[in-house]
Amino acid sequence: MKNGNDPEEKLIVSACLAGFPCRYDGKAQPDPEIEDLVKCGKAVPVCPEALGGLPTPRVPCEIVGGSGEDVLAGSARVIAFDGRIAFDCTNAFIKGARAALKAAKDIGAARSVLKANSPSCGFGTIYDGSFSGTRKPGSGVAAALLSENGITIESR
Ligand code: SF4
Repeated sequence: MKNGNDPEEKLIVSACLAGFPCRYDGKAQPDPEIEDLVKCGKAVPVCPEALGGLPTPRVPCEIVGGSGEDVLAGSARVIAFDGRIAFDCTNAFIKGARAALKAAKDIGAARSVLKANSPSCGFGTIYDGSFSGTRKPGSGVAAALLSENGITIESR
């Protein structure tokens, strides 16, 4: 990871990369470098989906009809699908994205490191809404909002 020279610089990081078991399946996706950044106080972990009020574990979600930018613009939706029943989680994702942005602003973060492919944290590539494991270009809802507000994103 490219480190800034400012010793006071703080980052926002995906909580699952920091070892918190907040993924939809109740597991973490720990990244030792991110865990160290949190331990030394340089990074603050956020889970936009938890901040949006969703439980853990939870039904997996994908963005249908566009990307995170489109969700924020009101032209795409975030859908949860358990293999039988689908339901709309768009409002929780937008709420969580706004909470993640507030957390970033509160600590003056200009950079973030976010989990790849997630409908919240994915940056540049996300699952395509077919729930088949296929990906498409685009970003998750929180990543889109952070990016729109000038916060740079590294994807892991
Ligand atoms: S990818 Fe983002 S929203 Fe999903 S569990 Fe990790 S921190 Fe939470």
